[in-house]
Amino acid sequence: MQSHQKVSLRWRRTKIIATIGPATDHAKNIADLIKAGVNVFRLNMSHGEHAQHEKVFERIRRCAKKMDAHIAILMDLCGPKIRVGRFENGSITLKKNSEVIISCRAGIGREGYIISQYRQLYKDVKPRDRILLDDGNLECRVVEIKGKDVVCKVVYGGELKDNKGLNLPDSSVSASSLTAKDKRDVELAMRLGADYVALSFVRSARDIINLKKYMHRMDRELPIIAKIEKPEAISNIDEIVKNAYGIMIARGDLGIELPAEQVPLIQKDLINRARYHHRPVIVATQMMESMITHARPTRAEVGDVANAALSSTDAVMLSAETAVGKYPVTTVRIMDRILREIERNQWASNRFGEDLYHSDEHPSSRKAIAHAACTLAQDLKLQGILVPTRSGHTAAVLSARRPSSPLLGVSTQLVTCRKLAIHWGILPFLMKEEKVRNWQVLSQEISKHFKLMRTGNRVLLVSGFNDNEMLNEPALKIIKVHRE
Ligand code: PGA
Ligand code: MN
Repeated sequence: MQSHQKVSLRWRRTKIIATIGPATDHAKNIADLIKAGVNVFRLNMSHGEHAQHEKVFERIRRCAKKMDAHIAILMDLCGPKIRVGRFENGSITLKKNSEVIISCRAGIGREGYIISQYRQLYKDVKPRDRILLDDGNLECRVVEIKGKDVVCKVVYGGELKDNKGLNLPDSSVSASSLTAKDKRDVELAMRLGADYVALSFVRSARDIINLKKYMHRMDRELPIIAKIEKPEAISNIDEIVKNAYGIMIARGDLGIELPAEQVPLIQKDLINRARYHHRPVIVATQMMESMITHARPTRAEVGDVANAALSSTDAVMLSAETAVGKYPVTTVRIMDRILREIERNQWASNRFGEDLYHSDEHPSSRKAIAHAACTLAQDLKLQGILVPTRSGHTAAVLSARRPSSPLLGVSTQLVTCRKLAIHWGILPFLMKEEKVRNWQVLSQEISKHFKLMRTGNRVLLVSGFNDNEMLNEPALKIIKVHRE
């Protein structure tokens, strides 16, 4: 193997996000998951108490520190996820063609009578609208609305358990995407210093701006990942992408709210759109679903993970597989292997992602320099691209171009190093403030740390960007690294 290839393929480019849950929330499991290749942990605020989340949060931070790894934490707000209430006997059975009432009154459900935890449901639906239950496994159609009761006819029946989700693909839900619970959860995220918060059921840029304002009032703004899982979000996608830090293709709810066959092309389109605006993008849900109970993925799941990498997503996400599954660490290991196999092929064919640069009508100087840097690194087979980055922005722009050489995001800020963990191909490196002066020396040190050094080998330094565009003085410098 050529040395250039050896260095290049040492690191996986596509990042892995794992949801922490009862199966994995102990220190030993967290450490094993990091070893297996997790870059970002997701805490799902749909489940669990604040005290528990706080404990797990601190545990992750401690583990990462001990292992000297820049691991980020994503706190996922549940948003206006509509759920049914509880039943007298824990569940009921819906029979095809029978009538069922979904009530917005307080109480407990029974056969033929379901409580909606969302109290405005009767205002948002109209006759003939579909109401989907339990991830779309059961389907009802609205017949009429009688006061606070929605009378429905069962289209696809089955068993319905306590607290299962409810989706309204034909209705426009009036509930705010930032619920009272979300506000409490954001406060926790801010207090703990989460690296990003995810906002569920985003419909327009307004939802993101409102969350930003809310955080601003509390004096701390965390990067926001917009979860794309509503048809309205697809219609407003460009504004959402521009206003959010990144996006998640939340295929679970998206595939219920929209015909599931539309999801694959939407996924491809969203990945390119996010890259175009240099935002990180996550492909989520059911990637390795069968591994919740089995030690091997289905071939279809392997194909799904491979396809996400081939389309050049920044990250892939595991939900129940790692939160409650039987084989959390094996799942991450297998995911890592699939991604590496694809990336080896992408590297060999010089193509980690579609070229979006040439269709860009308004290239900024950052984008143009990023383009030039990637071409240089490619043509000269450079061992790495070093990007000093304060806020992480310059590194994000370079990452969005999917360079073939490893991308070293160098920052004096620990929060920036962690934030970069979600971005495609970036290896975060924390440098000490006083070392900023001499890049020759620093490049040497970084190259040593990442073992890029072979006598005469070279790295590319991309510097001179400022968060104030007026102060930009971009420079590309090729630096030789030597073994001492
Ligand atoms: P959830 O979001 O797991 O919070 O529902 C992801 C999805 O809907 O795919
Ligand atoms: Mn969802």
